[in-house]
Amino acid sequence: MSRKHNFYAGPATMPLEVLEQLRDELVEYQGMGLSIIETSHRSKEYDALHNETIGLVKKLLKVPDNYKILFMQGGATLQFSMIPMNLLAGGKTADIAVTGAWAKKAQEDIKKYGTANVVFDGKANNYMALPKLKDLKLSANAEYLHICSNETIGGIQFKDFPKLAVPYVADMSSDILSRPLPVENFGIIFAGAQKNLGPAGLTLVIIRDDILEKSPDSLGAYLSFKTHVTKVKGKDGAEKTEISLYNTPPVFSVWALNKCLKWIEKMGGAEGMQKHNEAKAKLIYDAINASKGFFNCPVEEANRSTMNIVWTIKKPGLDEAATEALDKAFLKGAEALGMLGLAGHRSVGGFRASIYNACTKESCQALADYMADFAKKNA
Ligand code: PMP
Repeated sequence: MSRKHNFYAGPATMPLEVLEQLRDELVEYQGMGLSIIETSHRSKEYDALHNETIGLVKKLLKVPDNYKILFMQGGATLQFSMIPMNLLAGGKTADIAVTGAWAKKAQEDIKKYGTANVVFDGKANNYMALPKLKDLKLSANAEYLHICSNETIGGIQFKDFPKLAVPYVADMSSDILSRPLPVENFGIIFAGAQKNLGPAGLTLVIIRDDILEKSPDSLGAYLSFKTHVTKVKGKDGAEKTEISLYNTPPVFSVWALNKCLKWIEKMGGAEGMQKHNEAKAKLIYDAINASKGFFNCPVEEANRSTMNIVWTIKKPGLDEAATEALDKAFLKGAEALGMLGLAGHRSVGGFRASIYNACTKESCQALADYMADFAKKNA
């Protein structure tokens, strides 16, 4: 098989060696005579896998002891409503920085359960610039500040997370574990796994204990964060805490996450991923800059994402139809070279290269070379 250069925004490319390990171990797990995905989630084998995976997240992100790691389902989308249900019960207030399409979705759900106080709205400059988080005027009664650390469609990314008066609740769906983080400044971090951490089906939630304990009892079982941390009596009679084992966890996705985390560890952990991701992004931004305006990235330089790189083609004198034809030619040429997923999101058009953790430097180099060649022939 000749493997494609995969720039899809999610589900997205995974490390080849992880796919191969999953393939090799799918039918039989550790000599058990059955697959891990056929095994009870109450078995000692699954329990060991589950707890090891929690431990790996903690280690790689240096998560302090007063946080829990949950494996949820329902995508990041469920968290848009579950978080205000748990944190804003009784109509409390959350501050929110509206930085693009994904923050807007979160805002809509916050409004259903409490008050969304907008402390930044990027609309005036088309969501192409971000505020400095430490300069935001937070409201006195906010429970938290909602941010989307990386807007997947807009290609815009917060670079620093200074400690604020309230904790961040951060949607990190498209940049989780792509760099180190000061987890202690966050109340909740959540992320669908399907971009940086493996296949779809699992949402990682990192939540501070005191916030989790505040979940109201009025919520249905699955919807309350408290449900996902349960005290049970072990076989030896001793009490132990079970995390994300109240109901059946997404076992395949946990297994794949485990392997992706070990791969990240091998790549140098969060620090190693950051170096790798910055080097990859530089190849493509350099190709944009070198085209002298033929390729145009609208995002302010300081906030350009290392995960989702967006651009358009601009050629003076071309009408809309001719520009559209040139766009199509770009995508067709890319596809002929095995590059997939480069069309911009259907809501904005243009182009987007999603270069998550597992996207290789070779793929980014191939794209940068193609862009240079295309610009030379068409500018
Ligand atoms: N937030 C961000 C930043 C995203 O990129 C996405 C998915 N593209 C979502 C939320 C929604 O995630 P899910 O499909 O897992 O619900």
